[in-house]
Amino acid sequence: MMTTLYDVIIKQAKRVDNTLIDIAIQNGRIAAIGAISAPARHEINLGGRCYVSAGWIDSHVHCYPASPIYHDEPDRVGVAGGVTSVVDAGSTGADHIDDFYRLTRVAKTRVFALLNIARTGIVTQDELADMSRIDMALAGEAIARHPDFIIGLKARISSSVVGANGVKPLVRAKMIQRANGDLPLMVHIGNNPPDLGTIAELLTEGDIITHCYNGKPNRILTAAGELRASVRRALKRGVHLDVGHGTASFSFEVARLAIAQGVYPNTISSDIYCRNRIDGPVHSLAAVMSKFLTLGMTSRQVIDCVTLHAATALRLTHKGRLEPGHDADLTLFDFSTEPCVFTDAEGVSVGGQRRFVPLAAVVGGECLLTDEGKLSHVFNL
Ligand code: ZN
Ligand code: ZN
Repeated sequence: MMTTLYDVIIKQAKRVDNTLIDIAIQNGRIAAIGAISAPARHEINLGGRCYVSAGWIDSHVHCYPASPIYHDEPDRVGVAGGVTSVVDAGSTGADHIDDFYRLTRVAKTRVFALLNIARTGIVTQDELADMSRIDMALAGEAIARHPDFIIGLKARISSSVVGANGVKPLVRAKMIQRANGDLPLMVHIGNNPPDLGTIAELLTEGDIITHCYNGKPNRILTAAGELRASVRRALKRGVHLDVGHGTASFSFEVARLAIAQGVYPNTISSDIYCRNRIDGPVHSLAAVMSKFLTLGMTSRQVIDCVTLHAATALRLTHKGRLEPGHDADLTLFDFSTEPCVFTDAEGVSVGGQRRFVPLAAVVGGECLLTDEGKLSHVFNL
């Protein structure tokens, strides 16, 4: 019998439950998991010195490099921070999606897009104030041209974006969704009008509310700090909550009160772009994930939000799990236990005892060290 020669074997990696595993990779996919003795062209023996999970997926970023407002480089918000897949949330609409696709094919990070229902994308801050920018035919053609790139839709439903149009753009977004295979729809919430209650009532199973712990008056909690009935009903229908931290959309207080009522995020995402990456308060997906450790979530729960949950919500069916047959997208990471301080979008700071430190992103079997990984002891073998 012939012995398999794997492309890569990663030996002695710790899962988040502290069990050690070997991972064999062949043709960009996970070929085997467990204790593996077969040979490989390349072997990385971690000796239990760091953790492994399925590759981290940031389900809300902005990385269209040519965007006049929210631009960044995919690899800066991706592999440099241990993130193997990024999902751009509506930077482009039908007018610029071809250019976005072309520009991101050179990235090491896997880049996906939620198509903005406005054909112009976020060229201005009020892309849905003019209903004529929502062109159903153009959106449908864009989706047909890029079936593996456009994995969903994005609609920004807050006062500065929709102007006097209220929830009319959201009604149109649901029509585009129904006409295009019920793609996942991510809805940004912010200042009202329209009121979150009206928005929530229009959402159906699988739709995603991003900026879910924002501290603005249009938040998911009532003045008394309880979950709004409209949001509770939406969650019951299968609507998902996404963090989408961003410059102005994450409040420790709102997150703390929500989690105390059992209202956990389904996906943890950053809403990162160059400015909030460099100046804060976002910095990185790892930093946003670490904030949820300070809120009492376990590392396993946090990892699930950026792997299994993100892959399921966005129908990335070959990602999110460490299982044979899935894409060989992995994140190698460790924890720092030096006391640290995290700041939310309201300027409130909270002390933390533990922080995720991404060390490497493995994309389709190729190992790319992060900025911190290059300095780490783990790879000086
Ligand atoms: Zn937003
Ligand atoms: Zn955003």
